[in-house]
Amino acid sequence: MNDTIAAISSAGGPIGLIRVSGERAIEAVAAVFDAKNGKSLVDAPSQKLVYGTLRDKNGKVVDCCFAVALHAPHTYTGEPMAELQCHGSTAVLQLGLDALFAQGVRQAEAGEFTRRAFLNGKMGLSEAEAVHDLITARTAEAAQNAAAQIMGAVGSPVQEMRDELIGMVAHFHAVVDFPDEDIDPVLFEDAAALLHRTTSRLYSMAESYERGRILREGIPCVILGRPNAGKSTLLNALLGRERAIVTDIPGTTRDLIEENVKVGQLLLRVTDTAGLRDTNDPIEQAGIDRAMAEAAASALILAVFDGSRPLGDEDMLVLARSAGHRAIAVVNKDDLPRRLEEKLLKKHFLHIVPLSAKTGEGLQRLLDLIPRTVGFGDGAFDGALITNSRQAAALARAAERCEAALYAAQSGMTPDAVVMDAEGAIAALGEITGETVTEAVVSRIFSDFCVGK
Ligand code: GDP
Repeated sequence: MNDTIAAISSAGGPIGLIRVSGERAIEAVAAVFDAKNGKSLVDAPSQKLVYGTLRDKNGKVVDCCFAVALHAPHTYTGEPMAELQCHGSTAVLQLGLDALFAQGVRQAEAGEFTRRAFLNGKMGLSEAEAVHDLITARTAEAAQNAAAQIMGAVGSPVQEMRDELIGMVAHFHAVVDFPDEDIDPVLFEDAAALLHRTTSRLYSMAESYERGRILREGIPCVILGRPNAGKSTLLNALLGRERAIVTDIPGTTRDLIEENVKVGQLLLRVTDTAGLRDTNDPIEQAGIDRAMAEAAASALILAVFDGSRPLGDEDMLVLARSAGHRAIAVVNKDDLPRRLEEKLLKKHFLHIVPLSAKTGEGLQRLLDLIPRTVGFGDGAFDGALITNSRQAAALARAAERCEAALYAAQSGMTPDAVVMDAEGAIAALGEITGETVTEAVVSRIFSDFCVGK
């Protein structure tokens, strides 16, 4: 039986939440809380808020607050739970927690409530992982995606595919166990149809991770351009405020600055870079090297060119470094007479946006274009993208094994060959639902959570 755990589950607002879970949760809270109606919390109906006072471990009243008893099994963890809704003072919350510790309750570890919910079968592993996504969501769309996952947008189809594969394998086993019966060719045909359908579903789920990751983490984005092209000014315009130091002296943006800019549904994680040019200054060179390392790992490059000047050698460096990336050419300083020829840019870039970072003219076109460039065109967001690398890897593995089983079924191999690969796919899918994960993996997943969730 699990011991009883407690934690402060709120994050610094005017109301503070202490959460308790385990066999003795309700008794422990009842021991430190006096209901105004004179009845013990132990006798209160489940899920009903009760008003009263909280006493510290020495019996002194430290808060007027609400308590609620939550009877198992209809609780988050599946265990008896109780909560105290206090005033949000850290002092009050700590006194409340200490009072509970004096009742034999212990401090909850990171993610322990959700871990218990998973272990008690209240939610699958993919749903539990989505809880973390929801807590750390930085945009409405990321939250929406995480909420859909908590409701089973990943877990349910995975469970369904897994069940279908298990049914298929069971059928094959039955046939193999009675070798005197000839294997029905229909069985192979049905298996192939199922495996075909499942393989493509799995690949498309696995592939949604690229966009899911962008949704959750934002788009890593680097601004490249020769000194004075207007990179810092563009960053400031994107941010709508002064952040980078804008100067007329080439090479002053020596360090990398990362900023988050909300672009439509997405978060753009922009790194401004030291001016890209050949330099003898070691500090500046270090900045350039880092800019290039960033660019290699980044999903989007904004290549800035000074539209008031013809393209020069340093611009060629930017062209070369943008090659092979998703990149947008920004022809800046469009408020000045144009002296840049776009012909060469058109060869290198799919998208060219003339704008003035200084006046803001044309900036909206860039903002509209960015989501489309990284796969978030209109309607591309369906609220159920994979956001988790562990799940994406398991899905890809399941897809490969499923495809191998399909090949075996289609090419008239023995039932054993079909079964072996299908079982591999079943195991990989079980890693997502949580049926076939190791204790170590579970521990690692929940250690990423915050305390109190
Ligand atoms: P960086 O070295 O690429 O970061 O360039 P900065 O952002 O520091 O800009 C260099 C110079 O160009 C500054 O004097 C800016 O005010 C100027 N500048 C930047 N964008 C524009 C623009 O759109 N129009 C005009 N006229 N000047 C600009």
